[in-house]
Amino acid sequence: MSTIEIKKITKTFGDFTAVKNADLSVGAGEVVCLLGPSGCGKTTTLRMIAGLERATSGDVLIAGQRMNELAPEKRNVAMVFQFYALYPALTIGQNIAMPLHFERLSKDEINARIQKVAIILHLTDVLDRLPGQVSEGEKQRIAVARAIVRDPNCFLFDEPLSRLDVELRHSMRGQIKEVLQGLSKATVIVTHDQLEALTMANRIAIMREGLIEQVGTPHEVFAKPANVFVASFIGTPQMNLIEADLQSYDGQRASLTLAGNRLDISADAATSRLKASKVTIGIRPRAFVPVTDGDSSTIPAEVELIEPMGAETLIHARTAVGGEIRVVVTRDKRLKIGEALNLRPDPTQTHIFDDSGRVVRS
Ligand code: ATP
Repeated sequence: MSTIEIKKITKTFGDFTAVKNADLSVGAGEVVCLLGPSGCGKTTTLRMIAGLERATSGDVLIAGQRMNELAPEKRNVAMVFQFYALYPALTIGQNIAMPLHFERLSKDEINARIQKVAIILHLTDVLDRLPGQVSEGEKQRIAVARAIVRDPNCFLFDEPLSRLDVELRHSMRGQIKEVLQGLSKATVIVTHDQLEALTMANRIAIMREGLIEQVGTPHEVFAKPANVFVASFIGTPQMNLIEADLQSYDGQRASLTLAGNRLDISADAATSRLKASKVTIGIRPRAFVPVTDGDSSTIPAEVELIEPMGAETLIHARTAVGGEIRVVVTRDKRLKIGEALNLRPDPTQTHIFDDSGRVVRS
């Protein structure tokens, strides 16, 4: 069974810990993206799975077998890197066949495998060309073809699309996803592009400073962020995070003060367990309803900047309570700079984080 499991793996380089106690398991046919800002330890984690880096502690299991001491070539993993080196003097077909040379297959079997992956990746017309005669998108597909032409235990991709232009990335995301869906292999993809992770992954592991902060489906990490970091990292435009003081909680509604202004919002039962009154309120830009009359469930604001985004408009509004707030409204909502707004947060999409940044949720 194609599975990947890492158990409490840590990697230190001298005094520096690049990955701390990371746990993750990837099932057969599952695609997990490691997502996070530059330097958070994504590539180091992937390299430990591949065997290119040795874990300082913890275990790496592939297909149920402990791999810690095995060299990369003994792990039977297929890797696709950001820089896909193709042999310039070999045809595309010969390039795709390279990983098969160690497998002692007959010529017919090799040809059959090349044809099969060429069909999957729409490369049949370019098999006789040289790498200098194909496009960047085709080169990327050749790199994927070379990985899937064998029957590896699992797939590891390191920023596979980062060299492609925006349009090509968009189409390649869909194509790689489709190919992976048909293969029943455990796959880990490293990316710092959240759109790539949200569209390609079954689950996303979000990393920061060597720690896995949350693992969940694209919907879970977006709708139920575990902490302030995940909340601010996922979603465009970024979630509004407003400092507040919790005054009281009646079992359903929390009464807060935001820089002296009162705001009542419905809140999770776990709010009653909060020890400190300092909290952070998280509200997505699309989770506000502008209303005519202000009351204790609205935030007063003034339109400062208007950014058309096609079907929607991004409003930067100045508030007395927490600096600038980003609000997304539909294009037909005509607003003017300086206009006063009363913004009612959608209670189902309002998050409360405690003073350590963890979400308050039962
Ligand atoms: P990026 O998206 O920029 O590639 P990343 O999340 O993949 O970032 P890593 O490449 O895993 O990050 O690096 C994590 C940290 O470990 C970084 O601070 C990096 O400088 C450090 N690091 C990685 N490899 C080594 C090494 N061989 N020696 C010392 N430090 C290293």
